[in-house]
Amino acid sequence: MTNPQTLTIRRPDDWHVHFRDGTMMAAVVPFTARQMARAIVMPNLVPPVTTAALASAYRDRILAAVPEGVDFTPLMTAYLTDNTDPDDLAAGFRDGVLTAVKYYPAGATTNSDSGVTSIDKVTPVLERMADIGMPLLVHGEVTDADVDVFDREAVFIERTLAPLAARLPGLKIVFEHITTADAVAFVEGAGANVGATVTAHHLVINRTDIFRGGIRPHLYCLPIAKRERHRQALVKAATSGNAKFFLGTDTAPHAAHAKETACGCAGIFSAPAAIEVYAEVFDEAGALDKLEAFASLNGPAFYGLPVNETTMTLERQPWDQPEAVDLPGGDRLVSFRGGETLSWRLVG
Ligand SMILES: [Zn+2]
Repeated sequence: MTNPQTLTIRRPDDWHVHFRDGTMMAAVVPFTARQMARAIVMPNLVPPVTTAALASAYRDRILAAVPEGVDFTPLMTAYLTDNTDPDDLAAGFRDGVLTAVKYYPAGATTNSDSGVTSIDKVTPVLERMADIGMPLLVHGEVTDADVDVFDREAVFIERTLAPLAARLPGLKIVFEHITTADAVAFVEGAGANVGATVTAHHLVINRTDIFRGGIRPHLYCLPIAKRERHRQALVKAATSGNAKFFLGTDTAPHAAHAKETACGCAGIFSAPAAIEVYAEVFDEAGALDKLEAFASLNGPAFYGLPVNETTMTLERQPWDQPEAVDLPGGDRLVSFRGGETLSWRLVG
């Protein structure tokens, strides 16, 4: 493909978003719904979405925040805890209320305090999920305070993920928001039941960018960005055409005051220009012809869902992304690459 000026692809899906709830949800849902046909919605509310009934009610609240005339389907997840009822998950999956289950090691990230304390405690739930084909979405970091924050993903693979995948080869596992060459190698070497999402920001920033010219709280997320060689491994994997890798932004809004503070929250808000940032990465890698597979084909194939029939068109046209989105009450949400010039623009 030589330097195309426009690119039309099937409409993408986002296989990892955080919508929060209440006024924040109302502010962010339209950005994802404008770009993505479907999105896997994370369940880490306070309290978390742990049952099919809670997921169904949350889905209704999200749908009420979708702008008139926009076609968008939220795909719901349940938050796995030590006490999850396998029958409730199975019924929710059968009824189309639940699409997947999210596994957070207790304490791994924002609002994950009620996550799983030990993977062994949820073995009956995981066996049931394997039986019915319900995917397990994994936040792949150990939470032990004595493991260096930059090593937590690699240690998680060794201690938890590799043994789990070996023990339950029939369980569909999505290794979410991977950040390391170790994760890429694990996913490439695993069976077809293991896939991974890759965020836009982990394809763009490395750990040095978080400290470039001073500490940059809006580039702080979990898993934290790693060394440049890891970023390069992610770009290579995402742009390779390998069907195991697909789009998941992990867009995770926090009001600016909660990030620009002495102890700032983890999370990057990338929904406003997600597909444009991915397009830029694929363009720079000379792989625009692989964007549709990554954004619109590989995810549905892994989940066993149909691909979208509608299309989206991007144009090579520099534009300045607004720095932030205003929230009711005077606060704002700083966007990933907000205030910067992007080279691709969503035009239809
Ligand atoms: Zn997330």
